[in-house]
Amino acid sequence: MFHLEEVIEKLSVLPRGFVDHVVVGFNWVPDRPELGPCLLWTRSFQKSRYGRYKYKHCEGAHQAAYVAANGDYDHSLVIDHLCYVERCVNPLHLRAVTQSENMKAARRPIKRPSSGCTGVTWNEQSKMWRARVSKSGKEFFLGLFDNVEEACAKVKEVRGY
Ligand SMILES: [Zn+2]
Repeated sequence: MFHLEEVIEKLSVLPRGFVDHVVVGFNWVPDRPELGPCLLWTRSFQKSRYGRYKYKHCEGAHQAAYVAANGDYDHSLVIDHLCYVERCVNPLHLRAVTQSENMKAARRPIKRPSSGCTGVTWNEQSKMWRARVSKSGKEFFLGLFDNVEEACAKVKEVRGY
């Protein structure tokens, strides 16, 4: 069973209001509901799309989240995302693996999350939900959303049903 309060409590040991920069996402690790949804970093980002946050030896928000939840780790290891969402800082989605295990994991086929509503698709590049509608043969882009329900609501609003 996933308890958001427990995870937030663990992350709240991190200084400079770490948890204030985290929102609950709508992406889950396929077939692992007990790990809960992604917790998305919203502040600043590294080029690699990882959250930027300095803590002890960590440069990434996901690394800091891992340390907060599990204690320090062997620095020759890399922190891998089970959810493939680079900006995710849910410690249950993170594990410390060797560089070569990480490369292997990257080659695994990825199950894309599905929105469950027409016009809303997962955009892998931005790690957000992309909303669009077709009207009179034209396609309109409505934006990218962190939240799948907001994206679906927007599509319904514009489409009118
Ligand atoms: Zn995640």
